[in-house]
Amino acid sequence: MRIFYLLVLLGYLLTACSPEAISGIPNQADTAADGPKVITTYSVLYDLTRNVAGERAEVSSLVPVGVDPHTYEPTPGDLRRVSEADLIIYNGFGLEVWFNKLIEAAGKQDKVVVASEFVTPYLIDAEGPFAGLPDPHAWMDPSMVMKYVERIRDALIDIDPQGADVYIENAKRFYDELAALDSWIRQEVQKIPPENRKLVTTENALRYFAEAYGFEIVGWIYTLAPEEDIPARRLADLIEQVRNKEVLALFVDVTLNPRMLERVSEETGAPIAGSLYIDSLSEPGDGADSYLAMMRANVELLVEGLGGRQ
Ligand SMILES: [Zn+2]
Repeated sequence: MRIFYLLVLLGYLLTACSPEAISGIPNQADTAADGPKVITTYSVLYDLTRNVAGERAEVSSLVPVGVDPHTYEPTPGDLRRVSEADLIIYNGFGLEVWFNKLIEAAGKQDKVVVASEFVTPYLIDAEGPFAGLPDPHAWMDPSMVMKYVERIRDALIDIDPQGADVYIENAKRFYDELAALDSWIRQEVQKIPPENRKLVTTENALRYFAEAYGFEIVGWIYTLAPEEDIPARRLADLIEQVRNKEVLALFVDVTLNPRMLERVSEETGAPIAGSLYIDSLSEPGDGADSYLAMMRANVELLVEGLGGRQ
């Protein structure tokens, strides 16, 4: 009889401990067993939050690395984890279209903080169903990320006032790193001849980046990813723009299907220079496994692709 109970208990413990992480970003909390449980929606926000929380809070993420955060479908495991969280941080501006339903189902409306709260968004400047909506990709500009960091810091202090010194200190250090990243990007962009600073991407996700660093956005496949019905005219217009503006290279997106941009490349002869990390980090060790590394990898790819190495 006693052995039976031990086996049941052992089985329970094994189930309770089995990690659910599909990728290197934990979707089980990874540190500080006694700290507040903080859940972020996707990997970029996970990294920003980890930078501020340090080892003091348990931070985990919902959308696995490499998966599109716009259209993610939460699992029953996500619902359970959100129900147990002390704080849930999401990007907002309509990025996570699945988020409100999840939070309602978990009954956690009072534990939610929107990371972009202090950001004034650009509104989507395009025809069609997304016209005038906020563009959610504010994190593509490090100066906007500074505002995210402020909001995340304040949210952590609210739920864990005793950790205030740690969060303030971490946020300050990360601010400095963001400022250094910003100066580095400015230097690197100078290497690209001004007439080549033109962007064609899978998703219209680089407005914040382009405004900050002086690029012209020539066109895209998806206005807000992954768009279901792309007007037939858009592809033809894009091909014409790439030719007329003598765009040097096109950039696909790690979380999105590259097929249509590849067609633009075939039609125009402008090569696909590589994949940008926008809505997701890379797997650990793959060169873009933190916000800072992701932005550096993107900028290096842009400099290379747009003739900044000649
Ligand atoms: Zn996106």
